[in-house]
Amino acid sequence: MDGRVIVVGGGVAGMSCAITLKKAGIEPLIIERSSQLGGNAANWHKLFPTFDSRENIVDPIVNTVAKLGIRVLYNEEVERINPKGVMLKNGRNYYADTVVVCTGYELFDARRKEEYGYGIYKNVFTTADIERMFNQNCVQTAQGTAPKRVAFLHCVGSRDEKVGNSYCSKVCCITGVKQAIEIKQMYPDCEIFNFYMDIRMFGPGYEELYKKAQVEHNIHFIRGRISEASPTIDNRIQIKAEDTLVGRPLKMTVDMFVLIIGMQAGANNKDFALCRGLKQAPNRFMEPLDPFWNNTASGCSNIFYAGAVTAPKNIGESINEGVAAAMKVIEKMSD
Ligand SMILES: Cc1cc2nc3c(=O)[nH]c(=O)nc-3n(C[C@H](O)[C@H](O)[C@H](O)COP(=O)(O)OP(=O)(O)OC[C@H]3O[C@@H](n4cnc5c(N)ncnc54)[C@H](O)[C@@H]3O)c2cc1C
Ligand code: SF4
Repeated sequence: MDGRVIVVGGGVAGMSCAITLKKAGIEPLIIERSSQLGGNAANWHKLFPTFDSRENIVDPIVNTVAKLGIRVLYNEEVERINPKGVMLKNGRNYYADTVVVCTGYELFDARRKEEYGYGIYKNVFTTADIERMFNQNCVQTAQGTAPKRVAFLHCVGSRDEKVGNSYCSKVCCITGVKQAIEIKQMYPDCEIFNFYMDIRMFGPGYEELYKKAQVEHNIHFIRGRISEASPTIDNRIQIKAEDTLVGRPLKMTVDMFVLIIGMQAGANNKDFALCRGLKQAPNRFMEPLDPFWNNTASGCSNIFYAGAVTAPKNIGESINEGVAAAMKVIEKMSD
């Protein structure tokens, strides 16, 4: 088939889109701002809800891109999108008949919630830090000791009007449950407390994992807000909270305090929306043309979306949208 297609972003959505196009006889070009494929998912050690390793899920997609000879332009950031192609940050233009935007999301910067001390106190971490520790097989305190008590805090940077993110990031409750189970498996004597506003288990197998965390792993879930965290003299973290179920204040000292950070819209979305027909939703993710029939389409007939660029999504949903967007491109080209 004729026509040049540019896929912006080489995460799971962009890769699955490019693979589907290539198998249909279309030559896509992936433009990726980092030096590798895989996007955010390439950083996660084991994936919810199955605990499959990244090597079994994400790496085979990366290998298929290489095996099919799909062209990838690395270390180039797309700054602007237009109906004729894309403009890179260095000002160079790449022309295309169709563009599929798969630029995903960014992690919430936990330093913005100063009251929790991330980046200030040594034993405050984010869920992304914990994945890094799992990858290095060294989940431990900053002093290098095994944790005896760990607290997780849900909804950091999501459902929070003060930081301008009033939406739910959807995947972080299950991430907190998954990590709590993994730490408990590593250190069976460690006490784990998850502080939450509500628990939102949206996907198949998620609610079951949440039950398992309580019944089989004895992980404690406390409905309550943590108002502040402060260091103790021995570098532990003291947290002050309110148990909102019993209406009582609570103080607890933990060895590790883990902030369950949410997903945030990509910083580039603002510039993407300068293209006629492309629109940012009020939550700053890109807004698809229609949430039912056209959730991979934009208001511009040759620009499509796939994956977390339009909303928080899990890996399976992002892969599916990559395929769905590719099918729309194929359909359009055969018109
Ligand atoms: C802590 C955490 C743990 C998670 N664990 C799981 C899990 O266990 N299971 C699960 O199903 N989901 C998990 N998720 C969700 C998962 O990360 C997403 O579903 C997935 O990464 C979305 O893929 P994507 O391709 O849409 O976006 P991304 O992964 O964000 O990929 C986007 C790609 O586009 C590139 N890019 C961005 N902007 C530009 C630009 N302007 N120009 C060029 N390239 C650009 C980026 O470098 C990146 O490679 C987790 C999320 C978080 C926050
Ligand atoms: S998924 Fe859970 S932790 Fe994440 S924002 Fe929604 S309610 Fe909060």
